Amino acid sequence: MDLSSEFLDAAKALLGDKGWRMDAESLEDVSTPWRGTYQGHTPFLALPGSTDQVAALVKLCGQHGVAMTPQGGNTGLVDAGTPHGEITLSMRRMQAVRAVDPINNSLVIEAGAPLVTAQTEAENANRLFPLSLGSEGTATIGGLISTNAGGVAVLRYGMMRDLILGLEVVLPSGEIWDGLSGLRKNNTGYDLKHVFAGAEGTLGIITAATLKLFPQVARVSAWVSCKSAEDVVNLLALTRDHAGDTVTSFEIIPANAIKMVQSEMPDVRDPNPSDLPWRVLCEVSMAREAHARDVMETALQAAFEADLAEDALIAETLTQAQSFWTIRESIPLCKRAYGTAVNHDVAVPVSKIPEFLEVTKKAICDLSPSAEIIAFGHVGDGNLHYSACEPMGAANPVLSNQASQITEIVHQHAMAFGGSISAEHGVGRLKRDELEAIRSPAATDAMKAIKHALDPNGIMNPNRVVRTD
Ligand SMILES: Cc1cc2nc3c(=O)[nH]c(=O)nc-3n(C[C@H](O)[C@H](O)[C@H](O)COP(=O)(O)OP(=O)(O)OC[C@H]3O[C@@H](n4cnc5c(N)ncnc54)[C@H](O)[C@@H]3O)c2cc1C
Repeated sequence: MDLSSEFLDAAKALLGDKGWRMDAESLEDVSTPWRGTYQGHTPFLALPGSTDQVAALVKLCGQHGVAMTPQGGNTGLVDAGTPHGEITLSMRRMQAVRAVDPINNSLVIEAGAPLVTAQTEAENANRLFPLSLGSEGTATIGGLISTNAGGVAVLRYGMMRDLILGLEVVLPSGEIWDGLSGLRKNNTGYDLKHVFAGAEGTLGIITAATLKLFPQVARVSAWVSCKSAEDVVNLLALTRDHAGDTVTSFEIIPANAIKMVQSEMPDVRDPNPSDLPWRVLCEVSMAREAHARDVMETALQAAFEADLAEDALIAETLTQAQSFWTIRESIPLCKRAYGTAVNHDVAVPVSKIPEFLEVTKKAICDLSPSAEIIAFGHVGDGNLHYSACEPMGAANPVLSNQASQITEIVHQHAMAFGGSISAEHGVGRLKRDELEAIRSPAATDAMKAIKHALDPNGIMNPNRVVRTD
């Protein structure tokens, strides 16, 4: 996009010296996503320092017909926050914590703050902000809301959408909507915050959010070895029978993922080596650690009696628990270093996971016998990160040529089992057309109508989620 000198002069003047960049390094940095699987480009990087500056810039963009891509940490995985010719509106300078209210259990924070800041602020107030995921040091509050991120504690606390009480948003018109209510009950019309959650920056720029806080809890983690995926889902049901909603996380890890992590991170030890194909990383959290430990022990005892678990290790210390979680959280990073990986983020009903895994693996291996399947993730939410991998330096590399066929297999199977082809990462440009082909036309029309009503000139992150050109 060619920017007029009139636009550039006005943008630079309203943003101030700290508020913009046009050097090649800065522009390339924001145009290169975390995985590096696609490359964007942008003519201008805006770094506003306040909501008023965001509003003034958006108004200016509207006047000049300049399209923008809002960006947080650029950790998104569906090509939504990487610019493709739009100017980039980075929120990274807006990280202030505006208020913490431990009595109301709420925290008001600016959208450019990384998730870890919200977690730390909550902890300092003897509260918990429960969202947790591998990118938490970089992913921002605005990005997490805009992708309705999930993570490892959805089972108990829900997704990001469930964790917001209010938002402040700059609309595509440049108007500011101050909806930073800390109220839990407020039935006064359409609940606008939910329009922006999961909208991937296509409907407005989130500048701040009021987040829900929770009481602090003590966590007890267990590393369990299982002989089949069927045992894993039955173990989930049994654990919940014993522990109810105190089951915070229930992650599935295949044995080959541990080997992959160790090949990239030689210092990582397998906590409890076993020849069995599956591990579960389960976490129970309660107000008192002794109670959580008691519940976990009882559940695991029942699992042994029901022959659902072969072996289990309950972490004795925080350090040991962290070593379990390091393996889980390192899988995406190690996969990137390991070799070619065709990645998917799918959901199927929990009860269908074993069959989904079996038939999908068979279909992929029929096509590509050397493919190594690494399926891991949030089994408690029915959400699997499903990858077909080929290690670096494989004798006959074929996978990159078969990527689209593999994706078709994985997505078709997910749909056939009543699932979703985007469980928690969103739509972006990556899945936009595929989703438009499979979702009901009524849903796509409604989405386009909302987009058009709020952004009639199509300047706000165009062509993500739904096609606007
Ligand atoms: C190692 C790793 C592990 C991950 N694990 C998980 C996981 O377990 N669960 C999960 O759900 N995701 C996971 N992700 C994906 C990713 O972290 C999320 O998508 C995250 O929510 C994106 O936040 P971000 O600040 O990086 O946003 P970006 O990538 O910068 O942007 C994402 C989208 O949000 C929009 N956006 C950003 N900020 C704003 C704003 N202020 N206002 C309006 N729109 C905005 C962008 O335009 C874009 O559409 C993982 C990613 C990595 C790299």
